Amino acid sequence: MRCPFCGNVDTQVKDSRPAEDHVAIRRRRFCPECGGRFTTYERVQLRDLVVVKTNGRREDFDRDKLERSVRIALQKRPVEPERIDKMISGIVRRLESLGDQDVPSKTIGEIVMETLARIDTVAYVRFASVYKNFQAADDFDKFVSELRPELPTDT
Ligand SMILES: [Zn+2]
Repeated sequence: MRCPFCGNVDTQVKDSRPAEDHVAIRRRRFCPECGGRFTTYERVQLRDLVVVKTNGRREDFDRDKLERSVRIALQKRPVEPERIDKMISGIVRRLESLGDQDVPSKTIGEIVMETLARIDTVAYVRFASVYKNFQAADDFDKFVSELRPELPTDT
């Protein structure tokens, strides 16, 4: 792992320990060239995912971005932080096991909403209202009627 301070590629691992309920390994690293210290996280990655946006643009999947949006939706909701971590790992695992490196952003939104709907209704509605701004209205309505058939569709 290259030192982020001086660029030396020959850094040393000083300490490794499980993090996030054994989903990740946290490593403390040391650079003998400049004395810099930094931390890396190792996670299982079944595939390198690429997000394909509705306008066709592609970008590398960013777990942190997903996590931020989910945490915003769950702000001040009675959901344990560990449960959120597990939920995000579960979503990523699902995306990775779809069998395709390219994942439409729409698919990610749907999986997140599906998961939130099971965990917290308020968070689900928050996320869904944001998601709605990104998508064609008819797609969203169709999705909602599939996901929550008990909701009236004319609200
Ligand atoms: Zn260095």
